[in-house]
Amino acid sequence: MVDEFSIIDLLKEGSMEDNLNIIKGIGDDAAVIKHSSNKLVTSVDTFVEDIHFSDKTMSPEDIAYKAIAANVSDIVAMGGTAKYYLLSLALPKNISTSFIHQFKEGLRLAEKAYNLHLIGGDTVEADKLIVSITAIGFIEYDYVRYRHLAKPGDIVFVTGYLGDSSYGLNILQNDIKMSSEYFVKRHQRPHIRTDFPKISKAIKRIALNDISDGIANELYEICEASNVSITIEDDLLPVHDEINALPSDDRNTHVLFGGEDFELIGTVAAEYYDELANNCYLNHIPITKIGRVSYNEEDLPKVYIKKNGQKEILNKLGYHHLK
Ligand code: ADP
Ligand code: MG
Repeated sequence: MVDEFSIIDLLKEGSMEDNLNIIKGIGDDAAVIKHSSNKLVTSVDTFVEDIHFSDKTMSPEDIAYKAIAANVSDIVAMGGTAKYYLLSLALPKNISTSFIHQFKEGLRLAEKAYNLHLIGGDTVEADKLIVSITAIGFIEYDYVRYRHLAKPGDIVFVTGYLGDSSYGLNILQNDIKMSSEYFVKRHQRPHIRTDFPKISKAIKRIALNDISDGIANELYEICEASNVSITIEDDLLPVHDEINALPSDDRNTHVLFGGEDFELIGTVAAEYYDELANNCYLNHIPITKIGRVSYNEEDLPKVYIKKNGQKEILNKLGYHHLK
């Protein structure tokens, strides 16, 4: 029998201690943590069974790991470092002890990977599994990476490769056997660029987003917040050969509109791009220049994509809830 309290006990098992800063963790009405004079940064992300994941594509470990990674990614995209998190779980009544054990293993793995501490949460019953994580972190460096900071003339850059996670999901859903495990892993266990805030700390102005909903969406968010337009070049996009070889509609679905790569996309003044790229190379973060920012000369900011010498509007597709 797993009830609320035995579940909380199970979830706590083996979590890292941080007696220096956590004054009260799990075990009271709320957690109490020490707070320095740094800027505190928080975010929350919620994952619902059969919308964000299914038991066909994600193990209990994967679900836990990815829920944490997605939150860490939001904090990193602000230029911050995640330190603590709260875990809200809605669980179906018939949930097994083995599910909770595996889920906990996923938490511990991600905590180690991202140096995070679980400080509390909530456990309730529901028809479907819902995992909601609130991350708390700090901006340890001088500058916050707001998406409203893009300026005409900036270079648009992206880290890592595009479309991997979406293609990996496609492999899982359609039982494609020939493809490498790499893409599936990219979907199940995303790697977050946690070093980016540190390695870019000397550069005053960077507009930044993490790629949770596909680059088309993320670029529109930057354009709209900054009131600028952006033009990207299709043949500059970092895409693995296997994805580039797909029929072009499928390729574009993954590369332009596919979510959950959790790479970083942003803009930086042209005179600082080489410094940024160099620091990325030195720290094993692949970075690619994919376009430029320009003045917005229309009613609404637009994202354009150049392909074979033709410039067209990039539509704002991608996953939207409640649409
Ligand atoms: P309360 O009734 O005061 O809200 P709960 O019984 O909900 O307290 O929770 C008891 C303690 O266990 C609290 O410290 C809470 O933060 C923690 N907790 C509850 N659910 C979780 C969870 N899923 N993960 C981590 N900690 C949890
Ligand atoms: Mg309470």
